[in-house]
Amino acid sequence: MQITTLPTPSHEEVSRVSDDTTGLVGFIAIHSTQLGPAAGGLRMKPYASEEAALTDALRLSHGMTFKNAAAGLPLGGGKAVIMGDPLVLKSEALLAGFAGAIAALKGRYWTAEDMGMSPADMTVIARGTEFVAGLPDGPFASGDPSPVTARGIFNAVRCTARHRFGSGDLTGRKVAVQGLGHVGWYLAEMLHGAGAALIVADIDPARCDQAAKAFGAAIAPVDRILQVEADILAPCAIGGILNAETIPALRVQAVAGGANNQLATPADGDALHRRGILYAPDYVANAGGIINVATEILKIRDRERFVTDKLAEAEATLDAILTQAATRGLAPHKVADDIVLSRMQQRPAA
Ligand code: NAD
Repeated sequence: MQITTLPTPSHEEVSRVSDDTTGLVGFIAIHSTQLGPAAGGLRMKPYASEEAALTDALRLSHGMTFKNAAAGLPLGGGKAVIMGDPLVLKSEALLAGFAGAIAALKGRYWTAEDMGMSPADMTVIARGTEFVAGLPDGPFASGDPSPVTARGIFNAVRCTARHRFGSGDLTGRKVAVQGLGHVGWYLAEMLHGAGAALIVADIDPARCDQAAKAFGAAIAPVDRILQVEADILAPCAIGGILNAETIPALRVQAVAGGANNQLATPADGDALHRRGILYAPDYVANAGGIINVATEILKIRDRERFVTDKLAEAEATLDAILTQAATRGLAPHKVADDIVLSRMQQRPAA
């Protein structure tokens, strides 16, 4: 196995990891350890080029610094990627090789499950390094993060409603949910429980039918969900959905959901602001996932208490962001970034 350090001014440490015998080519990007060990999942997918894989690792690890700092976790930002179709290239030997590269970082980077990885894969990695979370069992195993992620998003929806409509009471509020997977389903369940009227869309029609039965949800076609008239849009499927094409057609007053990287570009956050659509920054709204993983990394004994406290803190942070955005006339995504940067300045690198 070969590990090469790539000089990258924007990041603390970036490694390229390769192994000819298993076909492994991957990157580990540590963006910042200023607030603690860098934490962020391991993603495996068939990238078009090494450059694309590296760019993804750099972008995602930067995002993890912001997400972890916004959640008030003593963790920095990191991310790892492996090139290749997991169904074709993933093997125990390949994962063992990558585990060796994580181990070599001596705890500066903690990995976990992300796209193309499963809890079983984390067990394989755990044979080669202790710096792995998302294990299916063990004393601190944190399990599926989605229910905790959904709890955080639900709080964010209520907080956003308070700011946009003057009340966090969701009774009768129309909420459009894009994506009924792990996160979207739990969120829809909570919204329904709070009396919201749901409009849902998923590329899997069976999920929509289930939601119609379970929650009385109206179903929108996948290509119409971003144009339905509703109070709040909760994106819970894919990234980049708030862009130059979709924003002019939105017919909602606010956006608060769980998908990562909802804004295609920062300029799209400004475009939402100009349209008067209140945006709950995604990395603040969906921090429940990393809060859940953090219980494993930080070896928290009273998980439920930690999760509840941290979710309340994340909601308070969102509340502060939306308050500042209103008083200063700024777009919330900018205020969120400012708050994170000032938190990092208050805790200078050791
Ligand atoms: P998932 O794969 O379980 O669910 C995604 C759902 O969206 C699927 O049901 C899929 O059919 C549907 N979908 C895909 N494209 C769609 C489209 N164009 N229109 C409508 N539906 C579509 O994933 P998940 O774990 O629920 O995560 C959802 C989003 O939340 C992702 O962006 C993920 O990165 C983010 N997120 C998840 C967690 C977590 O704890 N799982 C934490 C933080 C962020």
